[in-house]
Amino acid sequence: MEKADIIIRADYVLPMEDDMAVIRDGAVAVKGANIAGVGAFDEVIKEFTSEKIVGGKGKVVFPGLINTHTHAAMVYFRGLADDIPLMEWLQNHIWPAEGKWLTEDFVNDAVELACLEMFKAGVTTYCDMYFYQGAAGRKLEKIGMRGVLGAGIIDFPFTGYASSVDDYFVNAENHINNFKGSELVFPCIAPHATYTCGPDNYKRADKLSEKYNVPIHTHLAETQFEVSETQRHYGKTPVEYLESLGVLSERMSAAHCVWLTDNEIELLAKRRVGVSHCIESNLKLASGIAPLPKMLKAGVKAAFGTDGAASNNDLNILGEMATAAKVHKAVSGDPTVVDSKTALLMATRWGAEILGLGDKTGSIKKGKLADLVIAGLQEPHLTPLYDIYSHITYCLRPSDVETVVVNGKIVVDNKRPLTIDEEAVMARAREWQEKIKS
Ligand SMILES: [Zn+2]
Repeated sequence: MEKADIIIRADYVLPMEDDMAVIRDGAVAVKGANIAGVGAFDEVIKEFTSEKIVGGKGKVVFPGLINTHTHAAMVYFRGLADDIPLMEWLQNHIWPAEGKWLTEDFVNDAVELACLEMFKAGVTTYCDMYFYQGAAGRKLEKIGMRGVLGAGIIDFPFTGYASSVDDYFVNAENHINNFKGSELVFPCIAPHATYTCGPDNYKRADKLSEKYNVPIHTHLAETQFEVSETQRHYGKTPVEYLESLGVLSERMSAAHCVWLTDNEIELLAKRRVGVSHCIESNLKLASGIAPLPKMLKAGVKAAFGTDGAASNNDLNILGEMATAAKVHKAVSGDPTVVDSKTALLMATRWGAEILGLGDKTGSIKKGKLADLVIAGLQEPHLTPLYDIYSHITYCLRPSDVETVVVNGKIVVDNKRPLTIDEEAVMARAREWQEKIKS
């Protein structure tokens, strides 16, 4: 009999592998950072024994959710400026606030609040685009969150972080080298967007990504403004422009992809660029509605992103799933699109795949890293239960998330964060709030 560190038992185990099996009275054995076994509880306990058995009746276990696009530290700007157009929001509110407040200390503190929110909502991996990712990475290693942390690149200097374009690349290369071999932090390079990064910066970012085999993450075709700006400067629409630079590849994941021509959808599929669908951010900023069903049909791999909490205003992937599943039905007039299984695939395995982590996380499979969520199913809004996938997409809330495992370690135990001092993190956020609003 093999000894496991944890055995998780649940009424439903959803591995999210190709057969989309639903294991009733299932179990997952966790050993070290990895999944050692998964199957029916009766079978798993023939092979494994453990002093720690968690979960039980009335629970579901599924892979940790993956937030494929955010700016985690922006949680401190949550609700700072709402109900205004995107460019006005960016230029008159967000950029000035970042210019005034964004430091390494800010990122160090804010990221912890973001991770607390994500842990409690069942998110075990997130992909980020921001600055001072060294501070974020050290925080993630301390609290046990997994992250693909993209060092931001823009054409203009940012006081305190980069006094020239070269500085951004030096910072990015250092970031890549600093986290080489980390189990939790996967460095990434993140050119901001086609209207803030010229051709040279995209090409340099792509070269760096190729040299170190790290992902490249960018905003793409988010607004009509961006499309017209890109056309005005380069005579091409955003995806066609990046194609002309030769930077579209499997290493790239692109957030938004709202305004796409049919040819651009084909290009994203052909170059195997992953798409981070940020529907709530796009709705709130009135950016538009990305053609998700069309992209999926064309073979584009897509996943969910929340975008920063200044534009969403939360980091709740369960909410993105429900919103996307409903909005695309209404917009297309077809209630079969973005069904609940597709939504959970996007939130788990496909999310891992577009971030280059498909062989490591995103599904419950022997040998993969143990990134898992246990949620309770015995609330009024989850009763009765006929279809578990439908319930997760349309009914489950972050408050139903009970226990969260990242890299084999329990980070939330029966709704109690174990690696983050919740009271202290909230108190610190309120101190920043007082400073920022003054
Ligand atoms: Zn964004």
